[in-house]
Amino acid sequence: MTHQDADDDGHEGSELWLLIENYCTDVDQELTARLEAWPPDFAEIHVHEVIGGLLARQATLAKDISRAPSLWTGHSAPILLRAMADAYINIAWLLLDPVERCRKFVLFGLGQAKLELEHRRAQIGAREPTPQEAAILEASERWIDNQRIGWLLDVDLGKWSSLSVRQMAEEANCIDFYNYVYTPFSACVHSMWHHIAGYNLTECSNPLHRYHRRPTSEQFTPDIHYLTLAAKYWSKTLGTFDRAHALAIPSPASYEKLISAFTDGKADPQTE
Ligand SMILES: [Zn+2]
Repeated sequence: MTHQDADDDGHEGSELWLLIENYCTDVDQELTARLEAWPPDFAEIHVHEVIGGLLARQATLAKDISRAPSLWTGHSAPILLRAMADAYINIAWLLLDPVERCRKFVLFGLGQAKLELEHRRAQIGAREPTPQEAAILEASERWIDNQRIGWLLDVDLGKWSSLSVRQMAEEANCIDFYNYVYTPFSACVHSMWHHIAGYNLTECSNPLHRYHRRPTSEQFTPDIHYLTLAAKYWSKTLGTFDRAHALAIPSPASYEKLISAFTDGKADPQTE
């Protein structure tokens, strides 16, 4: 590894870093290719906004994970990967009936935003809001109302899909993804006992203490596996999107390129 091409933000121009940047460039190109091949239908523009927005979010998450090797551990990576699993299941389910389901998706989000606004108002209570608070409340209210104009004002904002994520995954034919990705990573997201016991407790070696577990906040060595998972979920998302729209977009195939870069020995993550 050479240090002559170290860049300004502290990341040396290592092979791993170059590989990450190449990966992110590929992700951007893959997203752009979909948006070019899938022009918006202005009669149902919300479909393009919802599906396109989720697709863009998935690209963002894949790139953010890839650029943060310190998060490639069981402590943190599953939080972001679970978010990718959520986005994937949403996209797969929405694509089965995009016009109606994307409408519900928007309305549910607006309902949540409205609830948040009401909570803020309740917190302020009877006192006079500060100018800053008043500005936030007003902007938030305007954002919600602007989107509801022309959009079924009387709709129940509290409902989106009455299905659980599990049911959505079943309908979208990705129950394996739910069982093997979404559910296990949820333990980390929600800081559940079976995550804590495995990651933040260590058995005391003193037999007199009856092998109780002591809290530990140990730093783990980054594991490239988590990057490949993020890349795989992005690739899976593209596959589902492309099938739904009968698109056949070849390269750059970011996932395959990433895997072959590792296996060709062009970058050995263990040495970086
Ligand atoms: Zn002890």
